[in-house]
Amino acid sequence: MSRLDSFIRRLQAQRACLDRAAMLIRDLEGPVLELGLGNGRTYDHLRERLPGRTIFVFDRQIAAHPDSVPPDDCLLIGDLRETIPLAADRFGRCAALIHADIGSGDAAANRTLVAGLAPYLVRILRPGGLLASDQPLPETSALTALPLPRRVHAGRYHLYRREPD
Ligand code: SAM
Repeated sequence: MSRLDSFIRRLQAQRACLDRAAMLIRDLEGPVLELGLGNGRTYDHLRERLPGRTIFVFDRQIAAHPDSVPPDDCLLIGDLRETIPLAADRFGRCAALIHADIGSGDAAANRTLVAGLAPYLVRILRPGGLLASDQPLPETSALTALPLPRRVHAGRYHLYRREPD
């Protein structure tokens, strides 16, 4: 498969998982956390799919399209390894959805980053809340992997539900 094909499939999988997650949390109160603003495409998609929902956005910098820059009071700028633990203290168990799109080309660094963030993400999600991620999360009884939408190949994207304690 060419890199172009692989890129397109990744984005199709991402969109399908975000649409599934948005549908599943429709009746679940709580904010959305977007980890990895990047160009702002998935932020823009989520705010379109979840109108009126507060979306807190995390990145180390703002490099998004000007139409997709979140309001200042919803932006948490800095390294996720610092901002997410602070968010866990600030927000508590409230998020209906966390979307993490934070992978780089370095698989080992991705694993280390996600392993460090995972316990805090579990703390921030409310029971029944969902986590959509470009990276697999380490196994924990707090998260159940959900079936992926049709046409999304296993491993291309990841969907989890936060279980009650
Ligand atoms: N979802 C975005 C979109 O649709 O445009 C693309 C996100 S891009 C693939 C990954 C983003 O994660 C980058 O903007 C990068 O700065 C951010 N990121 C990765 N590791 C990070 C870290 N440790 N702290 C803060 N931001 C990080």
